[in-house]
Amino acid sequence: MSPAEEVIKYANMLNTENLSALRSGNISIRHDDGFLITPSGVKYSSLNYEDIVFVSLDGKFEEKKMKPSSEWRFHKDIYLNKIEANAIVHAHSTHATAVSTHGKSIPAFHYMVALAGGNDIKCADYATFGTEELSQNIIKALENRKACLMSNHGQVAFEKNLNKAFELAQEIENICQQYINALKIGKPKILSDDEMIKILEQIKNYKKE
Ligand code: 13P
Ligand code: ZN
Repeated sequence: MSPAEEVIKYANMLNTENLSALRSGNISIRHDDGFLITPSGVKYSSLNYEDIVFVSLDGKFEEKKMKPSSEWRFHKDIYLNKIEANAIVHAHSTHATAVSTHGKSIPAFHYMVALAGGNDIKCADYATFGTEELSQNIIKALENRKACLMSNHGQVAFEKNLNKAFELAQEIENICQQYINALKIGKPKILSDDEMIKILEQIKNYKKE
């Protein structure tokens, strides 16, 4: 499967796996000196190979073709700031989006919070979609992390390949659903920093390819 075909496959899965409806969210994969990204405003179910847009790491793209996702700036900045990032999934998944509207980090109410890379999942401060400011806020929330919420918007996850990035976005969505349920019955107990240090060590060896 070519990298562009892979982007299309996972963009469609945003719909079929209920991670993002219609055309919301976006997907990219690192490629040459830039990345291949879903076009802006196109329904995933109607995507064709030639619709996938190449954007260079200095933010240049061919004007004649489809426009890249309006969020190409934060995709570019993640690739520039995280050498380990080879693929990015941004989704408006239902529960992550609901939690994001509170603009707060998710504490260690469950040990799986460690999947994002630390003892909490940060929420990037709100900024208008597609802006440089949003990109900067996301980079800050991704310090020592590979996933974060985006205030009043959704979530973003990166990984060393698209399969893993997509899975991580699914995990974040599950964690958010569990967090909402936990909050319904009161204030959840939060795991200690010492416990999370142990978990973070153990979780490194937990996931198989
Ligand atoms: P694009 O269609 O431009 O990728 O926009 C979708 C989105 O989720 C913006 O945040
Ligand atoms: Zn979005």
